[in-house]
Amino acid sequence: MLMIHNVNILTMNKEEENFNGFLTVEGNVFSEVKKGTPPQELIDQMDDVMDGNNKWLMPGLVNTHGHLGSSLLRGAGDDMPLMEWLEKVMWPNEGRFDKETVSIAAQVAMMEMIRSGTTTFLDMYHLHMDDMAELVLEKGMRAVLCRGMIGLSSEEEQEQKIQESVDLFHNYHGTGNGRVSVAMSPHAPYTCPPPFLQKVASAAVEHGMMIHTHLAETRGEVERHVKEYGKRPVAHLEELGIFNQPCLIAHGVHLNEDEIQILKKHHVAVSHNPISNLKLGSGIAPIPGMISAGLTIGIGTDSSASNNNLDMFEEMRMAALLHKGVHESPSVTNSEEILAMATHQGAKALRIKNVGKIEAGFKADFILIDAEQPHLTPANESTMQSHLVYSAKGSDVTDVFIDGIAQYSHRTLLKFDEEKILYQANHLAKNFV
Ligand SMILES: [Zn+2]
Repeated sequence: MLMIHNVNILTMNKEEENFNGFLTVEGNVFSEVKKGTPPQELIDQMDDVMDGNNKWLMPGLVNTHGHLGSSLLRGAGDDMPLMEWLEKVMWPNEGRFDKETVSIAAQVAMMEMIRSGTTTFLDMYHLHMDDMAELVLEKGMRAVLCRGMIGLSSEEEQEQKIQESVDLFHNYHGTGNGRVSVAMSPHAPYTCPPPFLQKVASAAVEHGMMIHTHLAETRGEVERHVKEYGKRPVAHLEELGIFNQPCLIAHGVHLNEDEIQILKKHHVAVSHNPISNLKLGSGIAPIPGMISAGLTIGIGTDSSASNNNLDMFEEMRMAALLHKGVHESPSVTNSEEILAMATHQGAKALRIKNVGKIEAGFKADFILIDAEQPHLTPANESTMQSHLVYSAKGSDVTDVFIDGIAQYSHRTLLKFDEEKILYQANHLAKNFV
């Protein structure tokens, strides 16, 4: 058993919030989380005891949308709108990615995520997802994996893509002690014709799979959809059965109030990706409206080709600030809501149970932060929540535990040969753009 004591804990549990205390981990779950100092007889039962002096402890961050395989395209094609960027930069380069490129790109992304405190992520990618699942199992992270499907292809190819998603689900869903889950992922309404979306929906129902898709990311996408099909994409997806299964949409930038209500009716969750939406000039999602409607909202970075980093602290800060400016009101979002989105609400959006709080019985996914720094001063129990949203950075993370196991210790990655992977990544990246 592991104990961490003498540490300021942000529980994300509404009743107890944050306090100085200790916690114990038994197997992959928290067994005790308490205020004050632990009794000596409990300390004596431990295999490992860590002093958390000058540290803050909080749930590991949950990144609800990304594309790890495209990490080597970071910095390629900046300052372009979504469709031009996809058609001129992303798709032609990705068409030349081999197995090694995708694996190295995914490892670069995982290293960056762990280093900045992310313990759970969603990955939508169309290449080598079996290898991705093996990497997640080996490296100890928690993930929802989706074989991203573009339906602009022959019926045989469409069937094959759905079959690959179903196979991934049967081979990996629930593996790694439940760390890996698998969802069905049509890329977007503008890349998936309605008959294909119907097939996807029925396969998801048949196999009991969650659905994840990009939706209403740009104004142009919505306008083209209306022109082509005579209806807006949210109503269309509802009609095609996409919302009959647990569903998570990425972006939801161009949603009106009726559409937010449709999402609410079907318990569709939203991944809010503010930085990617800003960088691609897509717009700003109506998050305060979604909060008022009671939608489940998580935060996501999207890929490092449109962000351009995977630091969830930056994403939280942006999500917290952006809507205040747009609405000219500082109270439309607050640090508690934003932290919830980046932790237990994100886990809920991914349909992962018992993740995102520091509470007995929850999965022991947590991070430690070095609070002894000028930008986190004054550091105490009452400033911790504010600093974590408005001032902290991913580089403040010192230790990361996932499912009760240390993956990052004293700022060192335990399961990656970082120097080697970065060398390979730089070498392989020369082949692209
Ligand atoms: Zn995306």
